[in-house]
Amino acid sequence: MEKNTAPEGFGPVLAQYFTGTAWLKMLVVPDENTNCGIGEVIFEPGARNNWHTHPSNQILIVTQGLGYYQEEGSPIREIRVGDVVNVLPRIKHWHGASPDSKFGHYAIGINTEKGVVDWLEPVTDEQYNSFK
Ligand code: MN
Repeated sequence: MEKNTAPEGFGPVLAQYFTGTAWLKMLVVPDENTNCGIGEVIFEPGARNNWHTHPSNQILIVTQGLGYYQEEGSPIREIRVGDVVNVLPRIKHWHGASPDSKFGHYAIGINTEKGVVDWLEPVTDEQYNSFK
């Protein structure tokens, strides 16, 4: 099935932190000279990551499709191509595709010397389906 074939240059994400199928291509890998990481993530329809936080800002720039973004205590927001989300440090949130659209974003992590991500519990179907 085309659905489960990795896009050119992409590999699988860490499945234990995702619901559904998603793909990752690292564009910039942080090292001792570069305190920034940039990855492109593509989610199949309905796929999303677990709830999580970042030690420093994560900036999302939507590259394709229609996606969902939610911070704890707030409703799900739809995000579209060109939208930018500046996720502040320690804000509990998740991101992923909407039910009927493939979705992609760049994920830019800054101050990576502080760490990159702290994974939490999966987004339940009830939470995912709460979009109004
Ligand atoms: Mn995030």
